[in-house]
Amino acid sequence: MPLKFALAGNPNSGKTTLFNELTGSTAHVGNWPGVTIDRREGRYKGAGEEIDIVDLPGIYSLSPYTPEELIARNFIIEEKPDLIINIVDVTNLERNLYLTTQLLETDCPIIVALNMSDQLEKRKSYIDRAGLEMALGVPVVGISALRSRGTDELMKRAISTARKKRSGHTVLWHTQLDDAITKAYTHLLETGASHPLFKAVKIIEGDIHVAADDEMKRLRDDLKKEFDDLEATVADLRYKYITKHFSRCLKTTQNQNELSFSEKADKILTHKFLGIPIFLLFMYLIFHLTFGENLFSIEGVPSPGKLMQGGAEYLIDQLANIVSGLLESAGASDWTYGLLVDGIIGGVGAVLSFVPQIMLVFFFLSVLEDSGYIARAAFIMDRLLRRFGLSGRSFMPLLMGFGCSVPSILATRTLESDRDRRLTMILIPYMSCGAKMPIYALFAAALFKQHSDFMVFGMYVLGITTAVTSGIILKKFVFKDSVIPFIMELPDYHRPRLRNLLLHIWEKLKGYIIKAGTIILISTVVIWFLANFDITLKMVEQNSADSILGKIGNAIKFIFVPLGFVGKTDGWKSVVAILTGIIAKEAVVSTLGVLYTSAAQADIAGDTFIATIAATFTPVSALSFMAFNLLSIPCVAALSALTSEMKSTKWTLFSIAFWVTMAWIVSFLIYTIGSLLI
Ligand code: GDP
Ligand code: MG
Repeated sequence: MPLKFALAGNPNSGKTTLFNELTGSTAHVGNWPGVTIDRREGRYKGAGEEIDIVDLPGIYSLSPYTPEELIARNFIIEEKPDLIINIVDVTNLERNLYLTTQLLETDCPIIVALNMSDQLEKRKSYIDRAGLEMALGVPVVGISALRSRGTDELMKRAISTARKKRSGHTVLWHTQLDDAITKAYTHLLETGASHPLFKAVKIIEGDIHVAADDEMKRLRDDLKKEFDDLEATVADLRYKYITKHFSRCLKTTQNQNELSFSEKADKILTHKFLGIPIFLLFMYLIFHLTFGENLFSIEGVPSPGKLMQGGAEYLIDQLANIVSGLLESAGASDWTYGLLVDGIIGGVGAVLSFVPQIMLVFFFLSVLEDSGYIARAAFIMDRLLRRFGLSGRSFMPLLMGFGCSVPSILATRTLESDRDRRLTMILIPYMSCGAKMPIYALFAAALFKQHSDFMVFGMYVLGITTAVTSGIILKKFVFKDSVIPFIMELPDYHRPRLRNLLLHIWEKLKGYIIKAGTIILISTVVIWFLANFDITLKMVEQNSADSILGKIGNAIKFIFVPLGFVGKTDGWKSVVAILTGIIAKEAVVSTLGVLYTSAAQADIAGDTFIATIAATFTPVSALSFMAFNLLSIPCVAALSALTSEMKSTKWTLFSIAFWVTMAWIVSFLIYTIGSLLI
């Protein structure tokens, strides 16, 4: 029988690279945690031996939270490899050794492969290998899987290590848990369990996947009275041990007192108290520059965004004038005129006129992202969210939600448990996506004038606040689950590259234009028809309540009446706009564009549409309307992504019900409280 070795390590520590190097196979080398979820086996032929090598999934710990963790620990416990090659990414030594402390608790022979040593050299650092070997009690070899360095020595020492018996060791000896571990360990030894120390520690951590008899359960219950969070206590003890005994083996020849630029910047930008205000300030600044009426409140100096919006609006008005002029001279029918000018130009144009402004927001966000700041924002928010019992791992998908919900929902696949995944998916639409921005831009232009920047900023904050509140509620009543420790890497800051920025903006712009030319155009035409014909398909007076849409809107508007934005005369229009928002959020604006532009008004040059909106809504009812669109059901694209990712009709329906209820309550509160104040 050939020997069997398992490669274990954190995601992205280089397992697959080493696996390919050792086995010569061409397994895919990816960059995403979870790529190696399939079991991959290969054979190493060298040093006069044939060895089966298994590439385990990337894991941060041996707790049983994720499928990856379960696969890895079951393999180690049940398939009894002859040796574990524990790959450690030396550039993240402490985090990687956290897993090592758990692997050491098994009885399996272990060798530690310090990978990425080439990176370490670049940082003018090195590892005191002998010192680390002493501290860990297992062999340590420095390698670079990518540059094929040190792998021969690794395998030579691995083979001799595999032939020696080893029994588990834990860094938790001589801590306040010593007694408890001793009790559990001796008990498991007596019952003849395999890997008794590993199991003893797991039982104490509260791991339900390890069989515990009555005696063990009693021990654990006693401990629970003494420590309110055993798991956190254990994690903390591990990290303390690592920093005390292992970290000092990482030496650097760089001047310790000399902080790098990133470190200096992070002292302020990720400061415990200043971090969040600075983040909010950045966000406010972005909205000020794009939606603000006057630049820094200077009279007569418009903000860049306002200028761009004015320009776009002017161009679209010109286009409408040219087209209507042409149609008139060609003697076109009312019908054609209505469809082209009121329908298509009114609807699609309403969305397009806000696109330059929205591109500006994305430009600023890309600058923050490319410079490395967004990763800090995630870090700061994680610190905050954790206080509320939310998992920080959700933050990346949530952050992506500010762009578009669809990729964010797919990104939840990197999350740990199904519960976390579902919770995050429900919260994602609350991160105001790019498609919702035209709605704010419209009301900013129509109603909020001097306070536009603050209003848009407020909508984003409202979304985040609702997400946090919902998270707390759902966590308390629906997804009862403990928070999994989350560790994030912060890249160094660097100057944003213009090429990246332009590429990013171009991608977004392309997305908008394609959407405007397809789904929004089509929905606009459909809306125009439904708003101009009755059920017998007879043309009615433009946008009349007798039209099909008018009938539908009027039938269901009672639901929305308490929210304040259903006007007395043609209240069905805002209701219909909300419904079409499910097709695409931009369609809220294009629908309003169709319904509030009429043939009579089109002749009068200028912003009749925006003026009509200003006359129809009040600032408070507009806020309520925007909040409802922000918080209720996202667009169909997001819904279908959600349905396939939830993999459960029950949860999909729950999400929809939750969104609608939350949106209704929040809008109701905004309208009721707002009306009292103003
Ligand atoms: P896995 O997730 O543990 O399977 O990690 P991978 O093998 O996919 O490696 C993650 C990333 O680290 C890839 O981009 C590799 O090219 C890179 N990598 C792996 N080993 C080394 C190394 O020794 N040095 C450097 N600089 N990069 C490495
Ligand atoms: Mg891999």
